[in-house]
Amino acid sequence: MLQVPYPELDDLLEMMGEAGKHLAEIEASEGAAGNISVCLRWAIEPRSRFPVVNEIELPQPVPELAGAAFLVTGSGRRLREIIDEPTASIACIVVNEGGKSGKLYTSHQRRFERVTSEFNSHLAVHYDQICATNTNFHAVIHAQPVHLTYLSHIPRYQDEQYLNTHLLRWQPETIVNLPEGVGFIPFRIPGSPELMTGNVESLRRHRIVIWAKHGVMARSDVTVKRAADRVEYAETAAKYEYLNLSIGELGEGLSAEEIRAICETFNVQQNIF
Ligand SMILES: [Zn+2]
Repeated sequence: MLQVPYPELDDLLEMMGEAGKHLAEIEASEGAAGNISVCLRWAIEPRSRFPVVNEIELPQPVPELAGAAFLVTGSGRRLREIIDEPTASIACIVVNEGGKSGKLYTSHQRRFERVTSEFNSHLAVHYDQICATNTNFHAVIHAQPVHLTYLSHIPRYQDEQYLNTHLLRWQPETIVNLPEGVGFIPFRIPGSPELMTGNVESLRRHRIVIWAKHGVMARSDVTVKRAADRVEYAETAAKYEYLNLSIGELGEGLSAEEIRAICETFNVQQNIF
């Protein structure tokens, strides 16, 4: 939830650019992999940056979000290039009355045909979180961090309890930043309704979820960069885990007792350890 003064459209575009660049720097967005969206519920004037207007059907009806605006990356665009020319890679969608359709605002510089093919998941997660918390701002990122995604190919890491007790043991900050741990969805076809419902369900209980053999989705109701941080925290944990596996598991990690003591000190509610 954001307080006034709300960020301007240009500030939001810049933050999406910075998040995209950083995701590329941490090797979570090769080529055109990954996508970003934010939802804002205060009034904005999209035409200053996005003068071209078309009507579109939304992937699902979102009647409670009538009037809300989404900034969404375009299909096939590189997250690392958003920062150079945001309107070439981003569209703005404002939800019409009734919530079944919207106005798609784009720029003359637009270099994509459609918004990301994962927009169904983005929209469903925004909708679920906003209805649950009434936040006026919400950011969602899909990225493909190498180490987290690699671990999702190893059967024993496909169990959420095993995954989290192994990921959250390498640095004291990890449990503080991800107190609910990392969610896990078995492999689903990209862009499918099954992946969408998996995201909605898992992101109710977690701030970030692994899509098995594909990547992650993270959310934040503060900033898009906070959602990117969550990708980085989880990916750093996975790097430690990968490092440990690669040298024959010499590291002992923080013990469950040490992690519980951290949580007591910093007043972190968790039920993993
Ligand atoms: Zn992907």
